[in-house]
Amino acid sequence: MENKFKSPIMVTKSFLPPIEEYHKQIEKIWRTSWLTNMGPLHNEFKEKLNDYLKCENLSLFINGHQALEIAIKSLNLKKGGEIITTPFTFASTTHAITNTGFKPVFCDIEMDHYNMDANKIEELITENTVAIMPVHVFGNPCDVEKIQEIADKYSLKVIYDAAHTFGVKIDEKGIGSFGDLSMFSLHATKVFNSIEGGVLSFRDPSLKRKILNLKNFGIEGPESVVDIAGNAKMNEFQAAMGLVNLRYVDEEIKKRKLLVENYRRELLKIEGIKVIEDIEKVKHNYAYFPILIDESKFGMTRDELHEKMKEYNVFTRKYFYPLITDFQCYKGKYKDDHLINANYVGDRVMTLPLYGNLDLEDVLQICRIIKNKCQS
Ligand SMILES: *Cc1c(COP(=O)(O)O)cnc(C)c1O
Repeated sequence: MENKFKSPIMVTKSFLPPIEEYHKQIEKIWRTSWLTNMGPLHNEFKEKLNDYLKCENLSLFINGHQALEIAIKSLNLKKGGEIITTPFTFASTTHAITNTGFKPVFCDIEMDHYNMDANKIEELITENTVAIMPVHVFGNPCDVEKIQEIADKYSLKVIYDAAHTFGVKIDEKGIGSFGDLSMFSLHATKVFNSIEGGVLSFRDPSLKRKILNLKNFGIEGPESVVDIAGNAKMNEFQAAMGLVNLRYVDEEIKKRKLLVENYRRELLKIEGIKVIEDIEKVKHNYAYFPILIDESKFGMTRDELHEKMKEYNVFTRKYFYPLITDFQCYKGKYKDDHLINANYVGDRVMTLPLYGNLDLEDVLQICRIIKNKCQS
C-alpha cells in the first residue's frame, strides 16, 4: 500500500490561530472582568462581522442551533404550522423546527448542488404552511430568487440555515441578506469558528429587540420580563476567538479553494465520480468537498470506498447520510416517498478531507487512492 498515509487524515481539522494572539485578546477579559452578556469583545466582534458578512442586522449566539430555534420563534408564526425544509441536511435544521412546535414538510433536492429544489416547493404548500427553511448545503447558495418569489406569492417567511455559508456572497451581496433571517454556525468544524457560536442576520430591524429577549430569558429591563425564553448568549471568550480567527478567514478560504481546484481536476478524470462545480457570480467559501459515487461506472459503492479508504488512513464522511427522514426519531412520521433525488444522493455521497492546512500533496495522494480504487 504505497499510498497509505503514515498518520490519519481526518475529514476536517478545526482552525486555530497562533496562541499568542488569542492570549493577547483574552487578557482584555481579565482587565474588564466582563465574561459574558454583550461585553466589549462581543460588541467589537459583532461590528466586524457586520462588515465582513455584508449584512445589516446581526445577533450573536452561544451556538448555531440555538440561533436557528430563536429565528423561528422570533417570527410569531401560527403555532403548529408547517415549515417546508430539506431532508438532506444536518440534524439541527429539522430539530429546530420540531423543537419549536412546528411540523417539517420535506421537499426533494436538485442534482447540481443538492439544495432544496425550488421547483418542487409550491406543490407542498398548504393552508397550514407558514415558512420555508432551506439550507445552503455544503456552502453553495440555494436558488434564493425563486424561493423569495414563492414566499412572496404565498406570504411565507423564509429562514435560511446558512450554517455552511460563512462569507459566501452572491453578486457582492452577503448570503445573509436573503430571506427573512439566516443562521451562520461558528462551530469548531466550520470554515470560520468562535469555538462554538452562531449568528443570525435578519432583514427587519424591528426583530432586534425580540431576538435579544429570546436569547436572554425574555428579559427586557431590570424589572420587565416579557417573553418565556432561555439563554443563548455568546460569551467573551468565544468573541475573542472569533475576533482573532477573522484575521485569518480569507487566507483559510483561499487555501481551501486551491485544494478544491486540485481535487476537481484530478477526480474529473475518473469515471463514476461526480464533483460539484462553482456557481457563476458566487463567491464561494469551499466549506466541504462532496463527491458522488456512481457504482455502476466506478465499480465500487460509496460504502465500500468509505471503508476501504480507512485502510489508507483517510477518514471520509458520509455526509449527509442517513437522510433526516430516516432518523429513528422521525422515521415514518412524515411523508418521504417523494424524496427521489435526496435518497439517490444520500446513498452515494461522501465528503473528502478539506481544511486550509491540508497539504496539496496529501490531496493528490487521496486522489491517487481513489483513482486506483484502493488497489495500491
Ligand atoms: C453545524 C450546523 C448547524 C448547527 O450549528 P451549531 O453551531 O453546531 O449549533 C445547523 N445546520 C447545519 C446544516 C449545520 O451544518
